[in-house]
Amino acid sequence: MKSFWQDIRNTHQTALTGQFHTDIVIVGAGYTGAWLAYWLRHSGLSVMVVELRYAGYGASGRNGGLILQGPAQLLGEAAADWGEDRALEILGLTRQTLDWVNQLADQYAIDYRRTGSLYVGGDATERPSIEYTVALMQRAGIPAAVLDPLDQHPSLQQLGYDLALWVPDDAIVHPVKLIQALFQEATASGIPLYQGQAVDRFEEHPDFIIVTGPQFRIKAAHLVVATNAYTTIGIPAMAPWIQPVRGQVLATAALAPLDHPFPVYADHGFNYWHQRPDGRLIAGGFRHLALDDEVGLDLTLHPRIQARLQELVGALVGHSVPITHRWAGIMAMTPDRRPYVGQWTSRVWIAGGYNGHGSSVAPVAAKMVAEALTDNQPIWPLYDVARLKPGRQHPS
Ligand SMILES: Cc1cc2nc3c(=O)[nH]c(=O)nc-3n(C[C@H](O)[C@H](O)[C@H](O)COP(=O)(O)OP(=O)(O)OC[C@H]3O[C@@H](n4cnc5c(N)ncnc54)[C@H](O)[C@@H]3O)c2cc1C
Repeated sequence: MKSFWQDIRNTHQTALTGQFHTDIVIVGAGYTGAWLAYWLRHSGLSVMVVELRYAGYGASGRNGGLILQGPAQLLGEAAADWGEDRALEILGLTRQTLDWVNQLADQYAIDYRRTGSLYVGGDATERPSIEYTVALMQRAGIPAAVLDPLDQHPSLQQLGYDLALWVPDDAIVHPVKLIQALFQEATASGIPLYQGQAVDRFEEHPDFIIVTGPQFRIKAAHLVVATNAYTTIGIPAMAPWIQPVRGQVLATAALAPLDHPFPVYADHGFNYWHQRPDGRLIAGGFRHLALDDEVGLDLTLHPRIQARLQELVGALVGHSVPITHRWAGIMAMTPDRRPYVGQWTSRVWIAGGYNGHGSSVAPVAAKMVAEALTDNQPIWPLYDVARLKPGRQHPS
């Protein structure tokens, strides 16, 4: 069961048989692995990427395509948890992604559109958070706004939404096209991508690490685990700190234009949708209808949630809608809603745990790991995986 984005997947496999030596081996070719390979392409280090299936097989090829700046929660909520300065730093860090993707879009056809985004509040209790978020964004020079009422958008009003946060420069991208562009850049600089290769285990030594699969053995100075929700398979000790959670998505046939040509996310961020230039709607969410079912690594469809998504797109356009694609994807949740980035052991690095918000965070996390590996730069403390190490304060 593949996603709409995965229709253009490239499944070409290059044999990986025998013994290899490299400076860095990256396991996983989603956003994290692709951005990391991209950042390392001019480092002078030898790098290999090993992927179980194909680039974009995981969450990165199954997501909604939204690139939303800021943290996984509303900026105002993050400021309440971590302080305004930290929240604004996250805003600044993740805004860089929009520029980076913009630069790639000048060179590659990746369906990138800087449309802005609308967060619609489910009820009046969200008003303080939305207003606080707008105030913080305006302080950072971003002309965000509270929209109240939503009379420009009757299709949203008739769903019961009448209060929203407008962010003028969020974006949408075709995630698999973006990943393919990143790998095009990386492979042109001599970083090979080996698809269809499962890493089974690794064995750490003081000065190197051995990474093995059914037919290969790679001796590397460093391993970067870029497997996000699958991280606990490679690093079982991470199990308490990464929860694999399933999300459901669908794509419709082409429809008449909606009254909102930008992505909308709603109901505390659980639900989201946007219309593509060809009229197709991509819609995902309703995980909160079955939180206990939607866990684990199994990519199955949830009939009740899929039916609810179909109702939603029907309600948006006012009639029943043909569905062309239905899919599920697995994201990685962390207890403190912060990603894990940095050095796990002396030879093993990690970047992942993006809480369903990796499009803007994975490039930043990958850059932090690249700069730590090449220039010994410190990892940003709020993201640093070192917080999980014994003696540190564990997230609650
Ligand atoms: C349904 C859904 C909707 C989402 N919507 C959005 C959105 O709109 N905006 C947003 O910002 N974020 C969204 N996200 C989250 C976002 O997609 C993720 O945060 C991001 O894609 C994670 O990227 P990644 O590269 O770390 O992980 P993944 O993309 O999951 O990549 C991990 C890769 O590791 C590979 N792998 C696993 N085990 C092995 C092994 N043993 N050997 C070799 N390779 C292995 C997998 O095949 C996979 O390709 C969504 C997620 C889901 C599931």
